[in-house]
Amino acid sequence: MSMITPEVEALLYLFAAVAFILALKGLSSPKSARRGNLIGALGALVGIVTVFLAEELRNIGWILLVIGLGTVLSVPASRMVKMTQMPQLVALFNGVGGGAAAIVALLELQAANTLGFLIAVAFTIFIGSISFSGSVITFAKLQELMTTRPVVFKGQQYVMIALTILSLAGAVLVVTQGEFLLATALMVAGLIMGLLVVLPVGGADVPIVISLLNAMTGLAVAASGLVLNNTLLLVGGTLVGASGTILTRAMAMAMGRSVANIIFGAFKGGSTAGSTEVSDRPVKSGSPEDVAILLGYAQRVIVVPGYGLAVAQAQHTMYELAKALEAKGIEVVFGIHPVAGRMPGHMNVLLAEANVPYEVLQEMDEVNPQFKNADVCLVVGANDVVNPAAKTTPGSPIYGMPILNAGDAKQVVFLKRSMRPGFAGIENELLYEPNTTLLFGDAKDTLTKVLTSVKSL
Ligand code: NDP
Repeated sequence: MSMITPEVEALLYLFAAVAFILALKGLSSPKSARRGNLIGALGALVGIVTVFLAEELRNIGWILLVIGLGTVLSVPASRMVKMTQMPQLVALFNGVGGGAAAIVALLELQAANTLGFLIAVAFTIFIGSISFSGSVITFAKLQELMTTRPVVFKGQQYVMIALTILSLAGAVLVVTQGEFLLATALMVAGLIMGLLVVLPVGGADVPIVISLLNAMTGLAVAASGLVLNNTLLLVGGTLVGASGTILTRAMAMAMGRSVANIIFGAFKGGSTAGSTEVSDRPVKSGSPEDVAILLGYAQRVIVVPGYGLAVAQAQHTMYELAKALEAKGIEVVFGIHPVAGRMPGHMNVLLAEANVPYEVLQEMDEVNPQFKNADVCLVVGANDVVNPAAKTTPGSPIYGMPILNAGDAKQVVFLKRSMRPGFAGIENELLYEPNTTLLFGDAKDTLTKVLTSVKSL
């Protein structure tokens, strides 16, 4: 028997739904993100407890066992994961959510009695399965368990078209006949579709697809709310679906691409082009002392942080260097590219950790006109986000992505360990320009040496 009245149940769900909305609001700024996250977690906890209080659950032992198992696996995974590996963890958690919704819908099929219910079941099974297998591939790509470049095979688009038609027909059959076997086949079709949709996406486009899959999981979960007649799943899923869609659009716009181009671009041969070869052309490299002198003579310095800054965990040293330069009357700003690093807002979070004030962080549109007046652009562990191939090389995986105009600065200094390319796997012409100096080494190490030299100038 239910331990609470339907009114109390509705109130608890309302509380959880409001918590989710406040969580999203909190997540919109790095300052309040932590609080937002905690409020969201509280909402989820209230939602789960309410289910136990309101429903007559069978198999409670099994349910608790699975919750325990999930907790034992996910708590250490979340604690141990490096900041730079966060997107693949998010991709994995998201995929599991979609997969769970699909399995729940499949098992609820026997209870389906209305047309609306059956449509919701078919939708959840198909979309949840796409989300699961697609997320597994994005995880493998970001974890570099497989190539990060687009994977296409001959005739892939025709296979996709055929599978789409078959899946639609399968969904109609599931709705009209309610057969478990047909629903299982629809699930398999969704799993294959997830692979086919994500495999052709490569390099810099992977984060956008993670966000798109997030939105799809949200929709699948919302539909599973209809299946299970649970308001909170419906509200929570819709919020994830809507915010995921907004984030996908915002990221695609920041990359100067349409979502369709991101997913289907590789079929046109578009995003597969670009050289992965590291050429042996000569570059100009310098010592930390040379770089310190360049910086010491500058009046304006723009720092472009990237993924390598996070890998080296050099954010504190970077800020020390910025403060040392400012103490000498040199103006320093940080130019933040929307997809620098490996997750949206990565650089903002990283630099906030080192207490870099928000005023010196400038978004791409704001900072780009200033490069031509900068004496030095210090590129710290960034590569793709300053690669001119995005403007000059049609067919390159990043062609069309707006970049930071680092090359406009009078001098460009790259801090990186080798001549290896960045995430998109393509060479950066800027490294070979006559006004570019390379300072090789781990960014924390080289920045420490530059800082020491700047202080002794
Ligand atoms: P890139 O991946 O293009 O380049 C990173 C650079 O850092 C490399 O050149 C690497 O060179 C250098 N590096 C790595 N480790 C160190 C270290 N310890 N010390 C010094 N340098 C180091 O990074 P960007 O930030 O420029 O661009 C981000 C890329 O990631 C884009 O292509 C983006 O689309 C993609 N992406 C973005 C996501 C997001 O949401 N922000 C999510 C997933 C992908 P070397 O090895 O020689 O040291």
